[in-house]
Amino acid sequence: MRARLEIDLSGLADNWRDLDGMSAANVETAAVVKANAYGLGAPEVVEALLGAGARTFFVALAEEGLALGELHDDCRVFVFSGYLEGDRDLIADNNLVPVLCSPDQVRRFFDDLPDHRFALQLDTGMNRLGIPDSWFISHRRQLLEARPELIVSHLACADEPDNSMNRRQLERFGVATQGVGVSRSLAATGGILLGSDYHFELCRPGIGIYGCLPFVAGRSVVNLNLPVVQVMEISPGDSVGYGATWRASDRRRIATVLSGYADGIFRHLGNTSCLYSGPVPCPVLGRISMDLITVDVSGLQAEPDYLQLLGPNQSVDSLAENASTIGYEVLTRLGRRYDRVYKFASGRTRIE
Ligand SMILES: *Cc1c(COP(=O)(O)O)cnc(C)c1O
Repeated sequence: MRARLEIDLSGLADNWRDLDGMSAANVETAAVVKANAYGLGAPEVVEALLGAGARTFFVALAEEGLALGELHDDCRVFVFSGYLEGDRDLIADNNLVPVLCSPDQVRRFFDDLPDHRFALQLDTGMNRLGIPDSWFISHRRQLLEARPELIVSHLACADEPDNSMNRRQLERFGVATQGVGVSRSLAATGGILLGSDYHFELCRPGIGIYGCLPFVAGRSVVNLNLPVVQVMEISPGDSVGYGATWRASDRRRIATVLSGYADGIFRHLGNTSCLYSGPVPCPVLGRISMDLITVDVSGLQAEPDYLQLLGPNQSVDSLAENASTIGYEVLTRLGRRYDRVYKFASGRTRIE
């Protein structure tokens, strides 16, 4: 008996197809699969996306580029962190494409691997990672002579369509890269939704593929079912859990489920969220423990075998909101102790 995380790869592939359909036919749609495909499992996710037609993948670290499983010959893998100290052999031996993101990285990379493929990330105002656009402009001729495969920048506020920062970054990216004759990419999920001005030659969605905001039309692709290990009756005045933070005013039935904050279920959700039995909400009572959660099942007719934390009645984004975080963090924290059940488009199921 283990908690069971079901991942709908067919829905995930459909999300990618829908995002792909939002840009013109001559705009390539890549897929961001960093952090083990946002926690869902890179090899399985990549297999599903290859089936949908994706050929270009982005990871954060070079090691992640090696963990994507079997790729096709025409696939490309870009590494957002660029050319970090110590990554020389990883990058060179595996034909990864570093997205160089500082003048220092550019210099070291050109010294070490002058004939290897590369891309560039420009900073256009986010001030997180990237070559200052001014430095790019002043070194533009030499940089272009070395033939980058792609020039990238990243939007800071793409999930807020009305934020004027989007236009300002678009403008700076356009000015710096005008006439470069190299593929350009500015849009992640949010940028795709901002419209065609933001699409350039390549879009690179991440979170939308996994069915989360800001891609409102995305399909949910995860169900998380937590098995009930014990059910008990408690009396008025009894408390539940560490710190005795919840106290009963009447008789209640408490179910204890097998999962906790060690499985990425935020401790902040104690006393503030629900698990579900079908459509029936069952409030979490008391604190979340490392491996266990206590839930009020007084409203159920029968003892449930499991309760659902993520599914049709509670999306990743609504759970995230309860925990004062974002869907990205809920997904990337999904525990390693779950049985993972992958549903492929073919109808095939694989259990990890
Ligand atoms: C994570 C990331 C993306 C994908 O963003 P989403 O919001 O998940 O679509 C794209 N580009 C860069 C540079 C990133 O770090």
